[in-house]
Amino acid sequence: MESPDQLKPIDISKHSKLVADWDSLQRIFIRPEDEDCKATLLKYMEQILFGLHEFLNSHVGVTEEISLLNLTETYKETLISSEPEKKLADVISDIISSIAPRAVNVASPYFVGHMTAAIPFFMVHLKAIVAALNQNVIKLETSKVLSVLEKQVLAKIHRLIFDLDESFYQKHVQSTDTSLGSFTTGGTTANLTALWVARNHFFSPCDGFEGIETEGMAGALNHHGFDKAIYLVSKRCHFSLKKAGGILGVGNKHVIPVDVNAEYRMDVSKLSKMIKSFSKSAGTSGRKGKTAIMAVVGVAGATETGIVDPLYEIADVCREHSIHFHVDAAWGGPVLLSEAYAGKLAGIERADSVTIDGHKQFFMPMTCGMVFFRDPKIMDRIAYYSNYVNRQGSVDLGIKTLEGSREANSLILDSALKIMGTKGYALMIDHGIETTRAFADEIKKRQMFELVTEPELNILTYRLVPPHIGKLREKAYDRKEIERLDGLLDDINIMVQRKQREAGRSFVSRTRVNCAPCRENDHEVVVLRAVIMNPMTTIRVLSEVLDEQEKIYKSISHEEA
Ligand SMILES: *Cc1c(COP(=O)(O)O)cnc(C)c1O
Repeated sequence: MESPDQLKPIDISKHSKLVADWDSLQRIFIRPEDEDCKATLLKYMEQILFGLHEFLNSHVGVTEEISLLNLTETYKETLISSEPEKKLADVISDIISSIAPRAVNVASPYFVGHMTAAIPFFMVHLKAIVAALNQNVIKLETSKVLSVLEKQVLAKIHRLIFDLDESFYQKHVQSTDTSLGSFTTGGTTANLTALWVARNHFFSPCDGFEGIETEGMAGALNHHGFDKAIYLVSKRCHFSLKKAGGILGVGNKHVIPVDVNAEYRMDVSKLSKMIKSFSKSAGTSGRKGKTAIMAVVGVAGATETGIVDPLYEIADVCREHSIHFHVDAAWGGPVLLSEAYAGKLAGIERADSVTIDGHKQFFMPMTCGMVFFRDPKIMDRIAYYSNYVNRQGSVDLGIKTLEGSREANSLILDSALKIMGTKGYALMIDHGIETTRAFADEIKKRQMFELVTEPELNILTYRLVPPHIGKLREKAYDRKEIERLDGLLDDINIMVQRKQREAGRSFVSRTRVNCAPCRENDHEVVVLRAVIMNPMTTIRVLSEVLDEQEKIYKSISHEEA
């Protein structure tokens, strides 16, 4: 066997072959009593951190210019080798030299297209601790203090959202029979958990009915004489809500969008009207029917536009009709940490449940989501017990979660909150919102661009509109002509976005939004989407991104001419 001290890639031909044997196996587990073991751990940690640091230094762009087709050609071998192929040191240096440059440098200030970006460096260390401790918070027996810590962290964020009184938190922070929420793998499973709880709460057990979790959707509808059960959601909500409708047996066509107003926010008067018409509606079959509205979902920071629904007014409507009100604040939630901008989420404290992602604006590493419930007993509706873990009466966190085994993510969030304080987070949140505002002004100043959705938080959409098409578009009043011109603009924007992405220096994403909601000419157009969360992304960087887009457009229009 090679000495494990070898750091440089080795030329296998010159050395004895690597073998998998019992002796080598002993060395891959940590033995605290062994000094060599400590040195080995340190050495590889250094190799990873320094290697990645150097990589990030030398790759300021977003990704290496290499086609997906080329890449897939390299990854076609499907046989697992029976003998070891590489030593750890070689695996690490291979990852640094050939995986990292072909991954996406989401930490680049020029990477402003998605909700995944730079994270504070200490997150890497915290993640390493979580891996090293390898706790499983499904049960107390494999996590102990980390289950207790998780309840504390959940209570802290619950308080940030709902701001109930001190005695409430004293009572529930460590209570073994109540839950203020749970950690999840992400926003998708947090939303799914919220809608699952809302469904089960609506169809909870009663005389002659054991509850929907036991009897299923058909049983529930039958028992109550409903035709169907639905969720009403903001039209610009995240697709995870539709997915939840599918998984929960509701049918995703029964996750029904409520129209937005001219500002892309949920139209509350339409919501009211829909609820009233469903409450008395006859089923489509002509049979006298009733519709069960299990929840209304508003969004605080829409994925595509960053818009916040009128939460306070939606809460009013939900309370009037006793409907569960869920707020999807996967993106926007941490804005509550900012004194200057928390007001943008006013009304969130009136929700029944709230989703927040840790791996978005809490700047945590992939992946972490959370869901919170105002009523500390409501998660009883999804409790599952078993004999070997999660016994009745135990405090095991796995009793009321969608996931089974889970990592101790609360340790990362708790530490980050201690390192940053709300003020530290607020600096990042405020920078994002204010830089996005400045970016919007810059877009409006430029002849070649049009702002499509005004930023409310730190997301905006815009498109490239060459002046000669822009002038025609302004004058056009015939619907066909408007659609034809928008079609041209769609093609231009798709092409520019793709070429910019392929060049690998900077990245904005692309989506489609309605160009004039509530107006006659409304239809979807292609827009470029910028998400500005990286504190290193400045207005100068964003101007360069626009310059590059103009340049790309000029080069393609030149080619076509
Ligand atoms: C990102 C996002 C989600 C989905 O969260 P994942 O963590 O990707 O599963 C849901 N809702 C909103 C508003 C989001 O921005």
